[in-house]
Parts: sequence; structure tokens; C-alpha cells
Amino acid sequence: MTKNAEYILEIINNSKNHPTAEQIFLLLKEKNEKAVLATVYNNLSWLYGQGLIRKISAEGNPDRYDRTERHDHLICRCCGRITDVMLGDLTAELQAQLGVRMLSYDLRMNCICPDCQKKSNNAP
Ligand SMILES: [Zn+2]
Ligand SMILES: [Zn+2]
Repeated sequence: MTKNAEYILEIINNSKNHPTAEQIFLLLKEKNEKAVLATVYNNLSWLYGQGLIRKISAEGNPDRYDRTERHDHLICRCCGRITDVMLGDLTAELQAQLGVRMLSYDLRMNCICPDCQKKSNNAP
């Protein structure tokens, strides 16, 4: 693994904010000022290919990156905010219902977050 890939993996594993490539880029710059945005994209796609990170794609928002530790996501339909949800591992239960050998699953719940809810309540 290259130094940059190591740094990027570390940034993602230490972040709870589901950073975008651009946010990762800014953090990487602090460790390696020579880094360019293309470095980030190349390494993200390599790390993703190796199964070392997760990618969260939501319509209308840039891809976000996350650690691989088992957890699920609650996503606000308005602002795209992502909150981690710990539901426990449903693999066995789902597998029993579906009758297939599941490799993984990615549960995503859509919501309107409290902030956006407030905004829409205040809207005229
Ligand atoms: Zn929101
Ligand atoms: Zn997450």
C-alpha cells in the first residue's frame, strides 16, 4: 500500500462524518502537501476495490466514504446528512428468509432529519 493510500484509509477510519473525496483531499493535504485531488480519487477507487472502505452513493450528492465496520445508515432526503445506525447484524435473519447465501447487505433508511423538519415547519 502506498503512503497516500495509508493516509486516506486512516482519515476514513477516524472519521464519523462520511467525508466526500474533496473533504478527504483537504485532510490529506495536511499530511502530504504535494497530494492532488486525482491522487485521492485513484486511491479511493483502489481502496474500495480492495474492500477496505465503503462507498455511500446518494442521489444528487457526491459519493461519501466510510469505514467497513458493520453498521447501517439513515440518510436525510433534504440535506443528505448521513447518520450511523447500529442495528446489529441481520445477515442470518435475511439469509433464512431469502434462502440464498448473502455476501453482504447495505441497509439505507431515508428520513427528513430534525433540522430539515424544523426548516419545513418554519416555511411560510
Ligand atoms: Zn436534513
Ligand atoms: Zn457510516
